Amino acid sequence: MNANRRTFLKMVGLATAGSALPWFLARGAASPRVVVIGGGFGGATMAKYLRHWGGNLDVILVDRNAEHYSCILSNLVITSAIPVERIMLGYSNLQSRHGVVFAQGEAVAVDPSARRVTVRVGSDAHEVPYDKLVLAPGVDFIAPGGDYDANLTPHAWVAGPQTLLLKRMLSGMSANRTFLLTIPPAPYRCPPGPYERACAVAEYLQRRKPGAKIIVLDANPGIIAEPRNFGNAFRNLYQNVLTYVPNAPVSSVDSAARTVTTPVGTFRGDVVNIIPVHRAGQIVTAAGLVNDPSGRWALVNPLTYASTVHPDIHILGDSQGTGQPKSGHMANAQAKVCADAIIRAFNGLPPDPSPVTSSACYSPITSSKAAWLTASYQYDPDSGAMRRVEASFGESAVPTSDGAQQMFQWADNIFADSFG
Ligand SMILES: Cc1cc2nc3c(=O)[nH]c(=O)nc-3n(C[C@H](O)[C@H](O)[C@H](O)COP(=O)(O)OP(=O)(O)OC[C@H]3O[C@@H](n4cnc5c(N)ncnc54)[C@H](O)[C@@H]3O)c2cc1C
Repeated sequence: MNANRRTFLKMVGLATAGSALPWFLARGAASPRVVVIGGGFGGATMAKYLRHWGGNLDVILVDRNAEHYSCILSNLVITSAIPVERIMLGYSNLQSRHGVVFAQGEAVAVDPSARRVTVRVGSDAHEVPYDKLVLAPGVDFIAPGGDYDANLTPHAWVAGPQTLLLKRMLSGMSANRTFLLTIPPAPYRCPPGPYERACAVAEYLQRRKPGAKIIVLDANPGIIAEPRNFGNAFRNLYQNVLTYVPNAPVSSVDSAARTVTTPVGTFRGDVVNIIPVHRAGQIVTAAGLVNDPSGRWALVNPLTYASTVHPDIHILGDSQGTGQPKSGHMANAQAKVCADAIIRAFNGLPPDPSPVTSSACYSPITSSKAAWLTASYQYDPDSGAMRRVEASFGESAVPTSDGAQQMFQWADNIFADSFG
């Protein structure tokens, strides 16, 4: 028996040790098991491609929700341009077409030495054995100082109930009132996203709320993505409704009073949209995998997305700290690199030595015109890091109606590639 076969059997043996699990978590075929935590763009793609490329791998996808609300296009739900159903993505295709086992539950702890993850399903906690664990939980937020309550001053930066709450607040806003939006320091998910939201809300106010204003408090020194397109929109299209304030990090929030204090002053809004500082998803922190210098992200090997703390745990999407942009498109690309590396490892093969990833964001600047931003990243063996391929970097010269059409086509492609 060769070493790979022995390793494989040992892994299966370890993973078989669990018992008294509900059917959907119990061990099926004697194949290596990969448990994927988080069914967003990273985790859903991961589960699908593990099955697609990995044959009979035992793949369990765990998400706390029965379906995923896409953040992509969610700014358009807030302004009532599209219905919320447009961003709801289910897990049925992953199950019926690809043989992924989906379990609705909350991962609460990881035991790396025993290779088990604790998943809470309803009031029961189950110890689920794995051979490889993939964490793709998106982001968590660091609550600002003061008296902050996300139900009074929503972020709407994880799509779902928060998106609908902000939509209700915006539509209920009276004329002549103020919408306050805060932008956290980079890195955060979707670099153009907050500026896109500012444009979407500004246009909505112009059309539907005479005399209303939006104030944008940016923790960064200036617009960090597509500065030309957003800067033009702020200065020209929305100059009568939008005030942009750079270098304005949030020091504290009083959600009940709807005030935000920054080093450049205290601001009050009638609707206050606080996007707090980001960090890796809670389960990544709970597993002790946050280890970058900022104390917010998990360092991984970009050839495999294996944690630099525990090599059998892989972390991808917004929680990882490779320096690549935090986007759904990027999470989808990283998942494919990671799935390929895990399948190769199960077969005793090294990972692809030169992976390439890419990112794209489309931003509606008006209800009929969108701008875009894209870049590819390639592994640099000298530094061991992913580096931006300069020739691949591009952004649209101006927002166009073609861009708006492409935005929906691109979103449908990402939705289908990840969840279809
Ligand atoms: C307004 C806005 C616009 C955007 N526009 C774009 C765009 O144009 N292009 C683009 O590429 N990206 C865009 N993004 C960014 C994109 O949505 C994120 O980068 C992407 O969703 C990250 O994927 P992920 O898999 O890391 O996390 P997510 O997609 O957030 O998925 C994480 C999943 O994990 C689950 N989860 C978390 N913790 C647990 C746990 N402990 N147990 C069980 N389940 C758990 C959550 O329920 C969730 O379903 C936008 C984001 C926003 C907010």
